Amino acid sequence: MYYTINETRDALKKGETSSVELVKNAVETFNKDKSAAIPLNAFIEMYDDAVAKAEAADKEISEAKAAGTLEALYEKKPLLGIPFANKDNISCKGTRLTCASKILEGYVAPYSATVINRLEAAGAIPLGRCNQDEFAMGSSTEYSCYGPTRNPINREYVSGGSSGGSAAAVSANQALFGLGTETGGSVRLPASYCGIYGLKPTYGVLSRWGVVAYGSSLDQVGILGHTPADIAEPLSVMSGVDMYDDTSADLPDSASLKNLKALSDDEFKTLKIAIPKQFMKTEGADPEVIRVFNETRAWFESKGAKITEVDLPILDASIAAYYVIALSEAASNLSRFDGIRYGRRVDNSKGYDELYVDTRSEGFGPEVKRRIIIGNYVLSEQFSGDTYKKGMTVRARIQREVAKLFEDYDLIISPTCPTTAFKLGQKVDDPLEMYLSDMYTVFVNLARIPSINVPAGKTSKDGMPVGIQFAGAMFSEAKILRVAQKWDEDHPKCGMPV
Ligand code: GLN
Repeated sequence: MYYTINETRDALKKGETSSVELVKNAVETFNKDKSAAIPLNAFIEMYDDAVAKAEAADKEISEAKAAGTLEALYEKKPLLGIPFANKDNISCKGTRLTCASKILEGYVAPYSATVINRLEAAGAIPLGRCNQDEFAMGSSTEYSCYGPTRNPINREYVSGGSSGGSAAAVSANQALFGLGTETGGSVRLPASYCGIYGLKPTYGVLSRWGVVAYGSSLDQVGILGHTPADIAEPLSVMSGVDMYDDTSADLPDSASLKNLKALSDDEFKTLKIAIPKQFMKTEGADPEVIRVFNETRAWFESKGAKITEVDLPILDASIAAYYVIALSEAASNLSRFDGIRYGRRVDNSKGYDELYVDTRSEGFGPEVKRRIIIGNYVLSEQFSGDTYKKGMTVRARIQREVAKLFEDYDLIISPTCPTTAFKLGQKVDDPLEMYLSDMYTVFVNLARIPSINVPAGKTSKDGMPVGIQFAGAMFSEAKILRVAQKWDEDHPKCGMPV
């Protein structure tokens, strides 16, 4: 497997590899991993039709070569023959989709998500579906009915979540890029734990059509890759208004993403960067994370960017607001899994109510049940006046104050997570500890802004990756990706596989 989309595309054009070879290698690695002593468990399943799709891509390439139209073909289909990892909550027509939940056992997607359709129209090949926390609820991929995905850097550690499967697949070089989803950090956190880049775009830039809903006002598809350029290109292909998703929006300078240029030295000198004091508190944060953050900060300063510490006390309320809103929306969204319409049905023939209760009792795992109960409790008549509205008020303030900050600054930088990847089992029985992993990521989802995880260093105690996030104003994807690309040029191969 090659490391970047560019390298792979060049090799495909020159005939040094074929799409079939790339797909078959990935399938072979998947099969080997299944019988490994400690499996990585990044992919749950490879799609049956991946090889056939790769064969069709190879045929197109060789026909265009013969006709002398290869460059024109790649203009039209820039990702032709490039395989990618999908997440188990994004529909790919005719293939199984379960959100890593027993309740969706046997469900086959009747249509493809818009993001998949657009990638396929650009020639990319969906390889298979990757593991995740059940219904994308979690930060470690331990809440999956398929067992955890482990961290490719050290298999004793978690991969992060909820898109841990896609992150581990990219980190272990089982796929060139991967799709994940974010409601509250689920792309950036596993990217941080696995040492790769991971982007959560502005809310609306990627259509949610065909993506299983968790918290609809927060949900957004994200992209994982070895370099910022490897994220920018799929983003340019997938972004933009979709008639099936009313919340979708065009990304203004998506054309500039095709050939991502690092920010120039002169542009760098004009950068104004904010660091929220609220994210600099040392309690709860690993000192090694703070050390790497300070090194990143020094890099910005050495390039002439102006850094200011800012005070945004409302950020201290982001975790509380996020969990109130996300769980309320989840309780409502997950009510559709009733044993009638989708997937699994437990039918003891006692009547509809029992069918509903039995299916949900057996189908959902404990963390999903906990969240449905909390969400319904928050929404119940006695509390909705208080808790839910308060959550919404806090969210509105976060949105307003963050937008205001971007009137004066280009970027907000902070660690992506307070700690690096932890050992399997360490937090699985302590939901509050698990929720606190999202301390720095969720304000981005609440504010609907874009943010990228950048692999910024490693801990000296156990060599696990540390991620730093660069967040920007709404629709500033090109800017944050160009800054990240500069980082990548100054730190070559920092997002490359282990
Ligand atoms: N840790 C967050 C949660 O459990 C992640 C959610 C997400 O982004 N899908 O809600």
